[in-house]
Amino acid sequence: MYGKVTLVGAGPGDPGLLTVKGREALLAAQVVVYDRLVSPAILALMPEEAEQINVGKEASRHPVPQDQINHILLEKALEGKNVVRLKGGDPFLFGRGGEELELLREHGVPFEEVPGITSAIAVPAYGGIPVTHRDFTSSLHIVTGHARAGKALDIDFEALVRTKGTLVFLMGVSSLPDICEGLLKAGMDPDTPAAIVERGTTPAQRRLDATVATLARTAAEGKVESPAISIVGQVCSLAKDFDWFDALPLKGKRIVVTRPKERVGTLANRLRKLGADVFEYPCIRTEPITPCPAMEQAVEHLADYEWLAFTSPAGVEAFWAMAQAKGWDARVLAGVKLAAIGAGTDKALQVHGLRADYIPEVYDAAHLGAGLAQRAKGKVLLLRAEWGSPALTEALEGSNIPYDDIPCYTTSYESEHAAALRDLVTAGRVDLVTFTSASTVKGFVSSVGELDFSGLTGVCIGAQTAAEAAKHGIPTVVAERATLDALVNIIIKEGQTNGTH
Ligand code: SAH
Repeated sequence: MYGKVTLVGAGPGDPGLLTVKGREALLAAQVVVYDRLVSPAILALMPEEAEQINVGKEASRHPVPQDQINHILLEKALEGKNVVRLKGGDPFLFGRGGEELELLREHGVPFEEVPGITSAIAVPAYGGIPVTHRDFTSSLHIVTGHARAGKALDIDFEALVRTKGTLVFLMGVSSLPDICEGLLKAGMDPDTPAAIVERGTTPAQRRLDATVATLARTAAEGKVESPAISIVGQVCSLAKDFDWFDALPLKGKRIVVTRPKERVGTLANRLRKLGADVFEYPCIRTEPITPCPAMEQAVEHLADYEWLAFTSPAGVEAFWAMAQAKGWDARVLAGVKLAAIGAGTDKALQVHGLRADYIPEVYDAAHLGAGLAQRAKGKVLLLRAEWGSPALTEALEGSNIPYDDIPCYTTSYESEHAAALRDLVTAGRVDLVTFTSASTVKGFVSSVGELDFSGLTGVCIGAQTAAEAAKHGIPTVVAERATLDALVNIIIKEGQTNGTH
């Protein structure tokens, strides 16, 4: 049985611009053959077990020649594999998608094409330039600025100028002087507005405005590099009014989001939508202790306790892993009152149909301890990390509340991205780092090492987290409340007062 090849357009860079159908194809792929311009967040969607082949095309350099790519697709499909060929933008627009299908068709291999959002339209759009506008143009022309090796540009400039339409040039950074000269010689008004947009739709997007007469010089002086798109036409004059993407509050800010390995990137996504260049940094791994006889025994004697307190979602998960192994369900907790350190931990309980009876106003160990000390008449069971914060037990001891403190999971600090992050921090290219617990601070510092952190700002969820960050010489700001919303608010505030690296 032959497999199938699906050509998928990955869009221009912003991972949110992958189509729903493209995402579905990617999730079901057994082999993914991809290009240089596909964003890492989209590559991260590939199933871990899928074979990943990078045929990364650089401008003017093709690490894997086109006919070899065609043969890889054929070969994998003949092995019966479900192959996704992931290409930047739309596969058929200057993407050689057609050539890749020819060989498959000759061999009777089934294929499909999932169109993508093309950079030719999306990059101008993110630059505030609508490619057509009734007041200015009635046509759009998408032109390649790439000349075949050793040949001159094959562009009919007179015809283009006559259309009075919007002109969009792809792959044209190095031939920009020839393109502009060609247009001027063909009679285009030298004052015609023009723009070049580099790395469009990504947090690093940069737009330079010019006229057709000054565009080549502007791009050279601005050291514009590929990938970039040039737009020539009256619509470019709208950019200053429609510049929505550059106006996002966190546009271009590099923000490191530290987090436990298994948590999904909710914060990261919110920051990306605000224009931030997010570096997701999972640096804490939590592992339930299995077997955990101390926890089993305590739960079997739950009637001895009045309260059961959790200080993190990881504690709830460790408890649940054990309960599941024992064949228990939520009723095992029927008689005990539940305390959670904060909303996140309460949410982890809610997943299992439970709700915390008590959550402190301020989400930290000291406040949880103080609150329990006020409420508890009987014994308290703490199911938490191996080295939990002493603030909690000190508060209970201070009020003579009996308790058992049982470690049910271990925490280790590590990250495969440590070297890359160390380079960024050392080069002063990090604006903000978010810390949502003292352990994220520990994870960050133990993995990147003790560096000079004075050039960045640690945005902390609460006072304890900030105290831990301060210990390592990280300048801090603290969210008004220990919630994600408050954290995002203070990030926006900080982002606007700081420069961009
Ligand atoms: N099939 C792709 C185009 C491939 S040609 C599409 O539909 O978008 C590659 C050229 O596309 C680059 O040289 C550049 O001109 C343009 N391009 C692709 N992504 C870009 C981006 N994020 N920003 C600016 N230009 C981009």
